[in-house]
Amino acid sequence: MYEKNEYAPNEVFPGMISKAASIAPNEVTEDDLAQINKYTLEPLAAEDVYTFKAVLCDNEVDRQHERFTPKALGDLQKLFLGKTVIKDHRHVADNQVARIYATELVETGKATKSGEPYMQLVAHCYMVRTASNADLIAEIKGGIKREGSVGFAASSAICSICQTDNVKSYCRHYPGRSYEKAGGKETCTFTLDGCSDAYEFSLVAVPAQKKAGVTKSYTGEVVDEKDFHEEEPETVEAPTDEQTEPTTEQTDNKAASLALRARIAAARARHISTHNN
Ligand SMILES: [Zn+2]
Repeated sequence: MYEKNEYAPNEVFPGMISKAASIAPNEVTEDDLAQINKYTLEPLAAEDVYTFKAVLCDNEVDRQHERFTPKALGDLQKLFLGKTVIKDHRHVADNQVARIYATELVETGKATKSGEPYMQLVAHCYMVRTASNADLIAEIKGGIKREGSVGFAASSAICSICQTDNVKSYCRHYPGRSYEKAGGKETCTFTLDGCSDAYEFSLVAVPAQKKAGVTKSYTGEVVDEKDFHEEEPETVEAPTDEQTEPTTEQTDNKAASLALRARIAAARARHISTHNN
């Protein structure tokens, strides 16, 4: 739960997507120091700083049944550079424990399950060694603190079943759920093909993991799976590539999306009146 002076980041940044990140200690080099000193008022010496690196995300389908494209990773590479690192999602000034001084896309030579070159977005972070963060440094060094959570906004989230960009309009499918398609069942995945904002990189004890296939929030509105359940079609036609003009199906999608928004508004009104009584 979030205490006073803290808040649930998803409430403050509507549509924020959270992902788990992994952290590892890193030796500071002269090169690192030069990059770090771009962010400091006075030049720091190697013994003044502690550095660590973090894999913020990669382009493999993750536990939330979402995957980044290289373009989206490139967006985050730019957006996370210079960002402060916080602890436990607490966005208060005295909780800024580190800063990201360099970001890079690293190819390992491996391939993803879908056969594309596997790549990771790696952030290099520094901390100024002080008495107050000696414990945190010891925890990172000792491998006790090794997980983090990144929060960002997607500018494109494409459904694998119907190709709808859910940042523009929600479709009826949920990542991780299985749907009938021409040619058999298919598990829905969402492709994040661009990012518009980086909200936080937080060191956390246990990274928050949203349960896939229950709710989704790409536009800031959270929609629940049951909102769509009653109009789940028997079969979803496979999309064709030749569509350039709006089709009946797309018009139907728009109508379904509008109907959904109306139902969400009604459900919210019910929720509010229930809580006020
Ligand atoms: Zn869909």
